[in-house]
Amino acid sequence: MDDDRCDRVDPADVVVVGAGPAAWSVAGHLARGGVDVALVAPDPTRPWPASYGAWADELPADLPADVRATDMADAVAIARARHHLGRTYTMLSTDRLQAHLTDPAVRTVVGTARGTRRGPTHTAVVLGDGRTVPGRVIIDASGAGRVLTGGRTPAPRAAQTAYGLLVDGARAAEAGQAFMDWRDDHGHMGWPTFLYAVPLDGGRLLLEETSLARRPGLPIAELRARLHARMAARGLDRAVLADADAAGAVERVAFVVDTPLTRGRARVVPFGAAAPMIHPATGYSLAATLRTAPTMAEAILAHLPGDGRDAAAAARRAIWPTDARLVHHLRRRGLEVLLALPPEGVIDFFELFFDLPPAHQRAYLSERDDARAVMAAMAAVFGAADGPLKRHLLRWGGVPIGDAPAPDAASRAPGGTIVGHE
Ligand SMILES: Cc1cc2nc3c(=O)[nH]c(=O)nc-3n(C[C@H](O)[C@H](O)[C@H](O)COP(=O)(O)OP(=O)(O)OC[C@H]3O[C@@H](n4cnc5c(N)ncnc54)[C@H](O)[C@@H]3O)c2cc1C
Repeated sequence: MDDDRCDRVDPADVVVVGAGPAAWSVAGHLARGGVDVALVAPDPTRPWPASYGAWADELPADLPADVRATDMADAVAIARARHHLGRTYTMLSTDRLQAHLTDPAVRTVVGTARGTRRGPTHTAVVLGDGRTVPGRVIIDASGAGRVLTGGRTPAPRAAQTAYGLLVDGARAAEAGQAFMDWRDDHGHMGWPTFLYAVPLDGGRLLLEETSLARRPGLPIAELRARLHARMAARGLDRAVLADADAAGAVERVAFVVDTPLTRGRARVVPFGAAAPMIHPATGYSLAATLRTAPTMAEAILAHLPGDGRDAAAAARRAIWPTDARLVHHLRRRGLEVLLALPPEGVIDFFELFFDLPPAHQRAYLSERDDARAVMAAMAAVFGAADGPLKRHLLRWGGVPIGDAPAPDAASRAPGGTIVGHE
């Protein structure tokens, strides 16, 4: 090491930056594999705030049953029509998932990572207070902030935004339950949003008005107004939402879905949302992260002790095999197609998508490293599209990534009129 300051934390084999699902899942696998792991975060055991959901068939088989809080068998999506998707959608217990992944064999270091300093055998993570944490391999699992691997990407980015209330399910039957409900009974014009109405443990229901992706993200205030209007239209007692609001049972979601793919450098490897393993067209990353963590850990363990650069390179290959990179690229194209659709076209698109055979739907939503299956799903969308949608797919499926127009421009009809402009 080129750093011999007394405020150096003991070197570790692997330093993991972050304390979300990505950090804890890979740190646990590494520690159980017998290496010394230091996990660095401002508050390593702070309770996770998000309500996490995933398709049951995407989750690792060894996830304890009690981490799965509720299952929606044969989940329903509503676009123009009602579709039974033939898959089980699972809401996880965030507390139990966090408890399951938090492994006492992992050494925790309270601190905020600011950068790295490279030495001959180790790279040190430099903390905000000046301390350093040296490791042979450094994993950046700091989420969208990507503190060691590029930082936040400049605006405007495409973002998923949502506003949700956790209500008493027994008082909210009128709200319905659907994984995705695109009906516009909120009465607002503009970029379409859907209701994500999913059961949580303890008899609660999460009612979340969601903008799947928009560049820039649809404001939370608009989502909140739509949720309240939608629930009023369905006859839900206003007190149900007011009680949730008053109790602070609120979930605000805002995260970027088009962060450029980052593979890191030398001994530093990004993982989880930092990589980004976020599915660009759906915003999901949790299940992919949990499934990839053991493979990534094995790749690192196979090279330690030894040169951390080899271990980091092996980790990169484990996270991003060629097919996974290609799939990510295809989904980025899918995102640009979505962002450039006129508002009413978004719902038609999902009507078409949910009419596809389940294998194609599953491939596009969930197959992270089967490029052939994802291409077949995209070809099936093209095959089922009418003339205008085919032209749209051809036009926007091939633009340089990130070049889709801002939503207002995208919603201009050919004559120049704004269609459903807010
Ligand atoms: C409200 C919400 C709901 C979501 N719901 C779902 C869902 O249902 N299903 C799904 O698949 N995905 C969902 N996502 C998307 C994604 O899966 C989550 O964002 C997930 O938490 C990403 O995990 P992560 O561990 O990669 O990053 P994060 O969970 O963002 O964790 C990042 C960690 O890094 C730490 N950190 C940040 N900066 C520093 C620093 N400088 N030094 C040290 N530590 C630092 C943070 O404190 C945090 O612990 C949701 C996202 C949000 C915001």
